[in-house]
Amino acid sequence: MKKIGVLTSGGDSPGMNAAVRAVVRKAIYHGVEVAGVYSGYQGLIEGTIKNLEAGDVGDIIQRGGTKLYSARCEEFRTEAGQLKAIEQMKKEGLEGLVVIGGDGSYRGAMALTKRGFPCVGVPGTIDNDIPGTDYTIGFDTALNTVIEAIDKIRDTATSHERTFIVEVMGRDAGDLALWAGLAGGAETILIPEESYNIDDMIDRLQKGRKRGKRHSIIIVAEGVMGGNELKALIKEKADIETRVSVLGHIQRGGSPTARDRVLGSLFGARAVEVLLEGVGGRAIGMKNHQVVDYDMTEAFTAEHNADMSLYTLSKELAI
Ligand code: ADP
Repeated sequence: MKKIGVLTSGGDSPGMNAAVRAVVRKAIYHGVEVAGVYSGYQGLIEGTIKNLEAGDVGDIIQRGGTKLYSARCEEFRTEAGQLKAIEQMKKEGLEGLVVIGGDGSYRGAMALTKRGFPCVGVPGTIDNDIPGTDYTIGFDTALNTVIEAIDKIRDTATSHERTFIVEVMGRDAGDLALWAGLAGGAETILIPEESYNIDDMIDRLQKGRKRGKRHSIIIVAEGVMGGNELKALIKEKADIETRVSVLGHIQRGGSPTARDRVLGSLFGARAVEVLLEGVGGRAIGMKNHQVVDYDMTEAFTAEHNADMSLYTLSKELAI
């Protein structure tokens, strides 16, 4: 290949910039030209594609968000949209594409690969919910943001002897809630993967109070229910007052942690290597501390399994 493209798509995540930088510089290192596609698949269809030099990705490794911007694009789901995208890429002389995003973006990348345009996927999402990889770019930063928030909430909870409900992101996957719950010392964690028992939760709250605990933290993943909904449920069942903190989009932003920068760099570089071998339809990931590549289809057909040992341990420790 003489020239490849790179884009970021779907929900942004901290560390995507490190991956973009790695793709650009690794390609140049191998004597391959590289172009950035702006605003994901939307930009691919519209042809907002620009050649990038090593200096164009300077000073971004420490920045959250994505310098290439991201977008969601309905037109790209259609055959016409995908053919238009391939036409634009051919016009620019691109022969392969690195797609940094979540499982939706992977589906798009696979569609292009099936139409004869090789794509490689790099997992960028704070949800950590892509099958085939132990970690995704952005998860660690989001987790640290949540922990910082929990620590602050805990200060005020202790001062006023209060129970706080902290709602975190995670529609289908509870990784963020699980890790944050364990690292933040939460009393209870509610995740989409596990059915909850409201009586058990209230029982734990009351026991904690009896033994003199001045604060309680409940973490709820948004996919289970909203924090305010849970507040109403607890009030109705046991007449316990709680405070709700919905962390929202602050979880998506911020300077990436060292770990996410390293992950982004490793994944971006490997994506270029795989693509330059002329292989499409592969996804990059980390398995047992090794960078791996695997069939991209697995990433959106297999099931993501959260590490439930964290759930069990968290319950054991929050006695
Ligand atoms: P994420 O990549 O974070 O999961 P989305 O699910 O919103 O985000 O997907 C990002 C974009 O990928 C969509 O806006 C769409 O353009 C494209 N996409 C998603 N699913 C498909 C699909 N089945 N076929 C083609 N393109 C898709």
